[in-house]
Amino acid sequence: TTSSLRTNEPVYTVHDLSISYGKKQVLTSINFSLHAGEWVAIVGKNGAGKSTLLKVLVGLEKWKQGDILFAGRSLKKWPTKALFEQVGFVFQNPELQFVTDRVYDEVAFGGKVRGWNETALHEKTIRLLQEFALEPFSEKHPFTLSQGQKRRLSVATMLLFDQKVLLLDEPTFGQDAGTCAQLLSRLQQRKEQGTSIIMVTHDMDLVDQYADRVLLLDNGTIQFDGTPYELFSSQLPLPGLIRPLPYEWERRIKDDARFGLVSYARESIR
Ligand code: ADP
Repeated sequence: TTSSLRTNEPVYTVHDLSISYGKKQVLTSINFSLHAGEWVAIVGKNGAGKSTLLKVLVGLEKWKQGDILFAGRSLKKWPTKALFEQVGFVFQNPELQFVTDRVYDEVAFGGKVRGWNETALHEKTIRLLQEFALEPFSEKHPFTLSQGQKRRLSVATMLLFDQKVLLLDEPTFGQDAGTCAQLLSRLQQRKEQGTSIIMVTHDMDLVDQYADRVLLLDNGTIQFDGTPYELFSSQLPLPGLIRPLPYEWERRIKDDARFGLVSYARESIR
């Protein structure tokens, strides 16, 4: 059925996917799969194709070559409404996704249009507002929220159906340290319950701390697919990105050691 995912098969399988905008090839021969309860980070410099990759996963970009399977079935065969009940997405400029004029209604919207039982919908809505620290703003117009609050609202609206997959484009953008940590720990909890997360981010510390796997995109191709540890401790150049400090130090120590400088430095400290 469309509503249940078997855990042993990948949630998403992307096979030899290529996309062009006009003559410009934006993604070239992309292959990867996503499993239940996996948190994948997509990193790469601006223009690498990260947002395009997220959008195509919910059918918002057309592709010519290759295929995307969701729950074992080509995305082309998924009715949009059924897909959106399984895959939540928060793209850049979350306000473009808002459809109501009240934070509360924004969260409840999907259930309302589907005629859910009012009490059940209310309870779920309140729970989500609390989970994402939005209850104090429930009567406000979504447009009046801060950038960080808007992102959290978008994430909350995307969990009304307990979506199996979350696609997040820079979810921590505009969050202060406190709400950022709060948002990430909520996502971590969801992940432990089996939700899969694909997150585009420029924050390599966040990748190191939360992601199980990281895809490095450059010029529309996957240059690396492995654990954050493998990526950051490799000698691969990370164009436009900053290695987390501990890895950077390690690399420098290794470089220095190559020239016999470590013992020299030790001596001079004494
Ligand atoms: P990223 O998210 O890594 O910054 P994008 O997926 O947004 O990269 O963009 C990849 C490339 O595709 C860029 O060169 C960008 O200019 C181009 N691009 C993105 N969206 C469009 C579009 N709607 N029409 C034409 N070109 C686009």
